[in-house]
Amino acid sequence: HIAVIGSTNIDFVAHVERFAQPGETLHVHASTTGLGGKGANQAIAVARLGQDVALAGWTGTDMLATMARTTLQQAGVDTHCLMEDPAADTGRAFITINHAGENQILVDGGANMAHGAEACPLLSPVLDHATLVMMQMEMRHALVLAMARTARERGIPVMLDPAPVPARGLPAELYPLADIITPNERETRDLTGIEPTDETTALQAAQILHARGTRTAIIKLGHRGVVYSAPDAQGFVSPFRVRAIDTVAAGDCFNAGLASALARGAAIGEAVRFAAACGALATTRPGAAQAAPTMDEVADLLDR
Ligand code: ADP
Repeated sequence: HIAVIGSTNIDFVAHVERFAQPGETLHVHASTTGLGGKGANQAIAVARLGQDVALAGWTGTDMLATMARTTLQQAGVDTHCLMEDPAADTGRAFITINHAGENQILVDGGANMAHGAEACPLLSPVLDHATLVMMQMEMRHALVLAMARTARERGIPVMLDPAPVPARGLPAELYPLADIITPNERETRDLTGIEPTDETTALQAAQILHARGTRTAIIKLGHRGVVYSAPDAQGFVSPFRVRAIDTVAAGDCFNAGLASALARGAAIGEAVRFAAACGALATTRPGAAQAAPTMDEVADLLDR
């Protein structure tokens, strides 16, 4: 199976014509409550693609925890390593999406952020028999590092989504523990100081990430596509043409597609193209986890 170690949130999403100004009250077109958090999103997106997946992390013991676990289980995600912390609230995110499909997000990490490296043994069983592990930065960094080290000791490849980028950058020790790193445009700029506007600049940024110890860098350029740089191959995948209405979780669905394709044994270029199709499809519908495409939908887009 694919192991995901990361956050579980409940997302409160409001659709508005435009973002509110300070002090202003707006009426929303529509609002929804659903599962979110990069860990949960990536796990559900992997499950939608028909791959075995287990999520390790934390919720609280509140109503939102029940909602989160039920949603994950209904999607087919193994939640044996999703712990409950009675002392913390389930993570929450407050998301506003404007007419142009852009988003603004506020996150209360809650239970996701309540545990450090000492919790590593609790989550480690998720790595048993895993072929690949997906991680993000919505947990304490000491725990991310400890889990990446454990995965490395067990010979399990680590795919790191460096999101959100910590104020002081990623811990230097994390780069060599990540086999694959997948920053978007803003994360690439924050990590490397280079604004990735095209293939040339994205590959320059990738070189910096390689120099820090990560073998494969995949730079997600939103509607401009994606650039990859691996030891044996590099290139650009142009974006699939879709009508984007909500870019929330495009990156999560991209990463799920990438993990799923690599776990099936695809070469890097093919895996990135598959992932780009997943990311593109995710922008065509609202929501985070619920926007993830199925294998049939991805196959249709790839054949078009
Ligand atoms: P994040 O959600 O992390 O910001 P991106 O917005 O870069 O990530 O999206 C991830 C990937 O999804 C992109 O690299 C691209 O392959 C695909 N994607 C995102 N937005 C679009 C779009 N408007 N049209 C086509 N593909 C898109």
